[in-house]
Amino acid sequence: SEVQEVNMPKYANFAAAALVAALLAACPVWGQSRDPLPVPDIPGYRTLKCDFHMHTVYSDGDVWPTLRVQEAWKDGLDAIAITDHDDYHPKKGDVSDDISRPYEIARLMGRQLGTLVVPAAEITRGNLHFNALFVKDANAFKGLELATALRQARDQGAFVFWNHPGWRDPIAWFPPVAAAHADGLIQGVELVNGRTFYEGAFPWIREKNLAILSNSDVHRLISIDYGPRERPVTLVFAASASLEGIREALGAHRTAAWANGEVWGGEALLKGLWEGAVTLESSALEFFPRIRQAGLQFRNRSAIPFKLRMKSAPAWLRVRARDIPEEKTVGFFVDAGKEAPAGFHNVAIEFEVTNLHVEPGRNLVVKVPVTVAVAQ
Ligand code: ZN
Repeated sequence: SEVQEVNMPKYANFAAAALVAALLAACPVWGQSRDPLPVPDIPGYRTLKCDFHMHTVYSDGDVWPTLRVQEAWKDGLDAIAITDHDDYHPKKGDVSDDISRPYEIARLMGRQLGTLVVPAAEITRGNLHFNALFVKDANAFKGLELATALRQARDQGAFVFWNHPGWRDPIAWFPPVAAAHADGLIQGVELVNGRTFYEGAFPWIREKNLAILSNSDVHRLISIDYGPRERPVTLVFAASASLEGIREALGAHRTAAWANGEVWGGEALLKGLWEGAVTLESSALEFFPRIRQAGLQFRNRSAIPFKLRMKSAPAWLRVRARDIPEEKTVGFFVDAGKEAPAGFHNVAIEFEVTNLHVEPGRNLVVKVPVTVAVAQ
């Protein structure tokens, strides 16, 4: 019994060490810190931060699928899709070309970390590439001609979007895309792919009734291509933070593109982001005979910066608009002119948010109600 008493703790230590080693090997993010990447929810919907375009060694990427989940966790994302090419497998001599595997491998780590992983594939035909999300069989598209592959995606209930619409060829609504779209086979387009904004695709959002996407299309480590908070993000406004929620929101086109400090999306969605992110610390302005300057303090709780330009205010009130950086409080100088009428005034100050784009050539305009007291 004395021998057992000595050996038991040793065995227990070994087992604990083995368990720790296994966990570390499976999931090296424990002990790491995560960027919370704060973005507000909007009325009725959770705002999910997503990247639906990335590669692994299962096509022409340089990393193993679990690494994509770790990167997404670290960067504060809620969901990813690994979209390996269906017909391009330069590493086939070393790695299988079964593109359902990256999802299967990444999914379990996604469960551990709370990162949603969407089963997906990139249908690649010449210079025209399409991502199919929520596929049932990622390998079903291989070798099929484009229209047939896209019909196969539709039959699987997939959500399909056109990737990097001006890649290699100058951007145009190419005939094969037009034909597929006319058949109801394309539901979205990447306004942003990597560091490229496809301005020419912005009018299509309304004209062709498409959902907006913004994805990294990363092939190497994300940290090689992007600094902190630099990777493009698709914002998805979902009824629930779940795969079902994402699928429904994509189908309803409740998405926005966020990249390089700019956001593109529908007016109501972007207004929701502004209202959830920015608060006026005090909505009262007071002016006295010898003090004709006051300030408006805006607090931005989100990781999205807001760039403001004055739109309208009473002529006797001069507001110096400025940018409100991410997670900062800033003050705007406000001067009352000599002609400012004495008394209390309820005033609406309008700002154009120049980095929130609701449609080509039009930015979000926000109205800030302020009470102004002028003593004479
Ligand atoms: Zn790609």
